[in-house]
Amino acid sequence: MALKPTIVPDGPEMYSGEGFGLMQLDKVVGLARANSLWPLPFATSCCGIEFMATMAAGYDIGRFGAERLSFSPRQADLLMVMGTIAKKMGPILKHVYVQMAEPKWVMAVGACASSGGIFDTYSVLQGIDKIIPVDVYVPGCAPSPEAILDGILRVQDLVKSEPIRRRESPEYAQLLEQYQIGK
Ligand code: SF4
Repeated sequence: MALKPTIVPDGPEMYSGEGFGLMQLDKVVGLARANSLWPLPFATSCCGIEFMATMAAGYDIGRFGAERLSFSPRQADLLMVMGTIAKKMGPILKHVYVQMAEPKWVMAVGACASSGGIFDTYSVLQGIDKIIPVDVYVPGCAPSPEAILDGILRVQDLVKSEPIRRRESPEYAQLLEQYQIGK
């Protein structure tokens, strides 16, 4: 019996026959992870309000499978940093990141989290990528809910295409080492 490719909308290529389907394990795991993100909202100021709108019925982040927020880093896989991060807060943010289990992703939402924004002052961290690795940056001050949802889609693209062994690679260990984060 010949196997034929089956098109899953927005999904990986699958070969199927009568009563079965074959897919690459990496792709299946990526698909499951991408559509069941558990975000931890680390919101310190106005960008957090935009996130609240993104969560509400009008924009409904649940359409992307990411409506289950976690306020415990141990049960989260997407750290969303929204707002101005003071240098004093940096070690706390890093601590939250370190406590999250692998695999984990980070989104810097808005100008403040991405670069310090308009607050080019002695007390404000000029971008969270000074202390933790960032996967996706969402531009704007404040970013619209549409922009935040676009950021979620960009994270989903990364998650879907990430090999399941990436977190064990020397390159990933090196990245964490740059940030003085032990595995
Ligand atoms: S980027 Fe703009 S809207 Fe977002 S926290 Fe900073 S000042 Fe507020």
